[in-house]
Amino acid sequence: MQYEKMLDRLYMSLPEQTKTKERFEMPKIHSLIQGPKTFIKNASAILKALNREENHLVKFITKELGTPTSASEGRIVITGKFSEQQMQNTIDKYVKTFVLCKECGKPDTKFTEMKGIKMLKCEACGALTPTKHL
Ligand SMILES: [Zn+2]
Repeated sequence: MQYEKMLDRLYMSLPEQTKTKERFEMPKIHSLIQGPKTFIKNASAILKALNREENHLVKFITKELGTPTSASEGRIVITGKFSEQQMQNTIDKYVKTFVLCKECGKPDTKFTEMKGIKMLKCEACGALTPTKHL
């Protein structure tokens, strides 16, 4: 049995209460390589979970991996061959940089702008922290 499957099974057998999400769980990437391109198959689900715009993530991946990236029919299409682990690392970095609150670590944040500076505003704790421009 695969290790991940074992973890899933373990998780499922836990009592309901311990499942209550205190810490944010990174969405799991499902990607595949087809020819010269890599597809993130569940991009729309990930974006929904993160509450972020498709274009923003596409721009991030383009810069991060230094390769043309686009979105099509709920998937993200990356030029070049990247493993699922590489894609997961890239998304994890995106989440840490642009989604999680720097104060409380919760993902309930949104972008706002103050005097031309891009900020991340946390809906959970109210923290306002500067974030990067892409
Ligand atoms: Zn916060």
